[in-house]
Amino acid sequence: NTRHGTILTLEDINVSFDGFKALTDLTLYIGVGELRCIIGPNGAGKTTLMDVITGKTRPNSGVAFFGETFDLTQMSEVEIAQAGIGRKFQKPTVFEALSVFENLELAQKTDKSVWASLRARLSGEQRDRIDEVLATIRLDGSRQRPAGLLSHGQKQFLEIGMLLVQDPQLLLLDEPVAGMTDAETEFTAELFKSLARKHSLMVVEHDMGFVGSIADHVTVLHQGRVLAEGSLDAVQANEKVIEVYLGR
Ligand code: ADP
Repeated sequence: NTRHGTILTLEDINVSFDGFKALTDLTLYIGVGELRCIIGPNGAGKTTLMDVITGKTRPNSGVAFFGETFDLTQMSEVEIAQAGIGRKFQKPTVFEALSVFENLELAQKTDKSVWASLRARLSGEQRDRIDEVLATIRLDGSRQRPAGLLSHGQKQFLEIGMLLVQDPQLLLLDEPVAGMTDAETEFTAELFKSLARKHSLMVVEHDMGFVGSIADHVTVLHQGRVLAEGSLDAVQANEKVIEVYLGR
């Protein structure tokens, strides 16, 4: 019972940890090419939601489909990543001793060991894709630079690039602008809006200014449930949202 034009279908998802309900009857649909923001106070269930989508946590019940064919509840984390769901955690985890280019090269060849990957020749097509991604994340001038010498924001962009070279259909991003300068945050907004044409994005973010600058559609989680959903203006005007989240 997935919907046409929907990249992600979650219906009546329940997750319990030792009797504690982290997600309750959660239903959420993400459209192809959509840029969705997920907001909510600490403990709302945002991380658990991402864990369910990536196969790290199995729901106790509910439906979870990627596209129309991939039943996420029956797949391993590796299978889900290979099917086209890329996740970026909050802290960057680039290989600091390797160059920017090598980091992208490794990410593209995840089926090999680190050293086998670096020795293997890239095809022209792979090299072109890396060049394209380098331009997208504005690191084409730093391709030979050790990743450890990049700024915090640039490391975040590199890690997004490491997902992009794998051509994921759905990108999950956890607090992408935390710790970024204003200029980096602005570039991230631009980047996400441009990526949303080709990919679908789910962004967990606390920075409401940033959310306002990117999202067509916002889902507010609270105590493991969807509290409200709609445009940022609509959810910010929602009484329940003001009470639990915004009206501190
Ligand atoms: P958020 O990311 O919105 O801050 P989380 O998804 O991390 O929220 O957590 C939702 C709730 O589930 C929290 O109360 C948290 O303590 C609880 N929780 C998350 N993971 C586990 C776990 N592995 N075992 C027990 N409780 C957990």
